[in-house]
Amino acid sequence: MNPDILVIGGGLHGLSCALQAARRGASVLVVERHFLGRHASGSTAAGVRTLGRDPAELPLSLEAAETWHKMADLVGDDCGFKACGQLQVAEDDAAMASIAARIARLEKQGMHHEKLIGADELRELVPTISPHCVGAAWVSGDGSADPHRAICAFRDAAKRAGVNIIEQCQVISLGRNGQSWQIHTTKGDFSAAVVINAAGAWADKIAEMAGEPVRQAIRTSMMVVTERAGDVVRPVISSFGRKLSFKQTAEGTLLIGGGAQGRLAADKQSASVDVQALSVAVQAAVRLFPSMVGTRMVRAWAGMEAMTEDHLPVIGFSDQAEGLIHAFGFSGHGFQLVPSVGRVVADLAIEGKSNQQLDAFNVNRVSEKGVASC
Ligand SMILES: Cc1cc2nc3c(=O)[nH]c(=O)nc-3n(C[C@H](O)[C@H](O)[C@H](O)COP(=O)(O)OP(=O)(O)OC[C@H]3O[C@@H](n4cnc5c(N)ncnc54)[C@H](O)[C@@H]3O)c2cc1C
Repeated sequence: MNPDILVIGGGLHGLSCALQAARRGASVLVVERHFLGRHASGSTAAGVRTLGRDPAELPLSLEAAETWHKMADLVGDDCGFKACGQLQVAEDDAAMASIAARIARLEKQGMHHEKLIGADELRELVPTISPHCVGAAWVSGDGSADPHRAICAFRDAAKRAGVNIIEQCQVISLGRNGQSWQIHTTKGDFSAAVVINAAGAWADKIAEMAGEPVRQAIRTSMMVVTERAGDVVRPVISSFGRKLSFKQTAEGTLLIGGGAQGRLAADKQSASVDVQALSVAVQAAVRLFPSMVGTRMVRAWAGMEAMTEDHLPVIGFSDQAEGLIHAFGFSGHGFQLVPSVGRVVADLAIEGKSNQQLDAFNVNRVSEKGVASC
């Protein structure tokens, strides 16, 4: 089983790259150290958000947003996507001024996806919101999806397209042999013309194996889910300047996250919940929704993924090694980008170029330039 393209990492990005490359005629193998979706893709809040994105990410994010609205065309299932809208709330006039300035800047650049709304419209959208909120940025086409349904849909679509997937298969080393890569794994050796590094929190290990050491940190974002509550909120809510994302699932439970960080284990292979840090996000949610007081928490968890210094992903060809393409470092906001990043990486793998501008995602930003990292 020596494919044209070997994808390292069976998270959503690896699966999306594999699917879209296979649809274009390549033979593709995905190798995953644990099971598909074991890490960030299975622990994500699954917010589908163009709202508040770094402008460098917006072309990819706006392309992805279009796909989310017709996701069944890509993978045969809507992945539980609901366009319930996303709101970034302003809790005071200074926050409102910052949001207004951002929207004005976006509009100057011809991007009109964010709308500024005042207190009355905010209360129409979210009657339960605390009276101290003065307005918000609103994207009606944003929303959220079901991550586990998305993993199954991308896996099944990839298999239908002919992708081979091997789980419990860890890449141990990589090396060039003439025109191809030799990939040594716990389930045997493979060769491939192209390797895609979609190894999430361990992408730096893969880059190092390939002779291109990179700097990355590991994010350990936490989530908490409550018991079922009455009708609290329909859109996904964040608050300007606070680490909060808040939404209500179809089952009525409340999901709180937004970037509060858990504890990374010493061996950097797992992360656990830091209750004190999580309480900051919970307090931010209660401040916006005082009716939540008394709602019981059911479960909390921490996920792991790679974070770069500028919080932008690394997407594109390696600077050091031929036939290596990176897709990692999504820094806490990569779920929404899954369809467009897969499309772009498939372009690179098959045609050697992409119509998307990828300069902001160049690996040079994080390259150790030959200094070994560990
Ligand atoms: C708690 C939390 C909340 C989030 N909320 C949002 C959100 O609301 N909206 C949003 O857009 N994004 C969100 N994100 C971010 C988003 O989930 C991630 O950016 C995205 O899932 C990353 O997918 P991935 O495929 O790159 O990584 P992963 O899903 O982590 O996949 C990488 C895979 O590579 C495998 N691997 C690593 N090393 C090897 C090896 N040597 N050999 C074989 N396999 C290997 C790993 O086992 C892993 O399964 C959140 C993330 C977390 C953790």
